[in-house]
Amino acid sequence: MSDIEIPESHPRYLSLLTRHRIEEGVEKGITSKQGLIAEGRGEAFDYLLGEETTASADAAERAAAAQLLLAEHPVLSVNGNVAALVPGEMVELAEAVDADLEVNLFNRTEERMRAIADHLREHGAEDVKGLTADGRIPNLDHERAKVDADGIGAADVVLVPLEDGDRAEALAAMGKVEIVVDLNPMSRSAQSAAIPIVDNIIRAVPNVTDHARDLTDATEEEREKIVREFDREAALREAEDAIRSGELD
Ligand code: ATP
Ligand code: MG
Repeated sequence: MSDIEIPESHPRYLSLLTRHRIEEGVEKGITSKQGLIAEGRGEAFDYLLGEETTASADAAERAAAAQLLLAEHPVLSVNGNVAALVPGEMVELAEAVDADLEVNLFNRTEERMRAIADHLREHGAEDVKGLTADGRIPNLDHERAKVDADGIGAADVVLVPLEDGDRAEALAAMGKVEIVVDLNPMSRSAQSAAIPIVDNIIRAVPNVTDHARDLTDATEEEREKIVREFDREAALREAEDAIRSGELD
């Protein structure tokens, strides 16, 4: 099955496309089998959210763009699901906000680290961090704590899509401004984020890039105002409300 064989008119088009990309990711050695399970969980939440970007998620995506543009040293973290779903889109976002890309895996193996770095390079990335692993996130077990000292280790703002709760909490405890993309507003990852984006990464990343391009000429004050006016508690509450009251088709 290739992308083209799924008719775009299919009511579950995006979900079928997503599944297919994850399946391909597993076949290429980019995505772990656990990534398949994470995908299933995400899909269930996306279904409940109506498989669309809510107004509240769009506001979070704009705040994320403003925050990334304001950062001294922004880093975008990439795991196996992110690499399978939005490799080119992550490269474009990194370019739009002048951020580093760093591979970070829950189940870290050198083969998978390399496969993901190669996959990102095939999609236009020039420099991919994560393989040096000369830095540590405090309070995490050894493998999970590894980061590049001059990447996530030195970052002031990190985008961590589909991150596991332990590491999201540990990064926030390190004082990083954390932007999380997670379809489950109740997950610890979303709960520990300064900017939780409750949206499918397939829609979220290109939309953050669009907002960043739109804010290219904005002043520092304008960007700061967008970040300041973003209300994380309200965003999480609105996402939960959307899930509870959703009209399903
Ligand atoms: P924790 O409470 O520790 O955060 P978790 O249950 O969130 O645990 P995982 O299953 O590893 O742990 O996390 C996967 C998360 O990623 C889930 O919350 C899921 O909703 C989210 N997710 C999966 N696919 C997508 C996607 N395409 N876009 C956005 N979020 C996704
Ligand atoms: Mg989580």
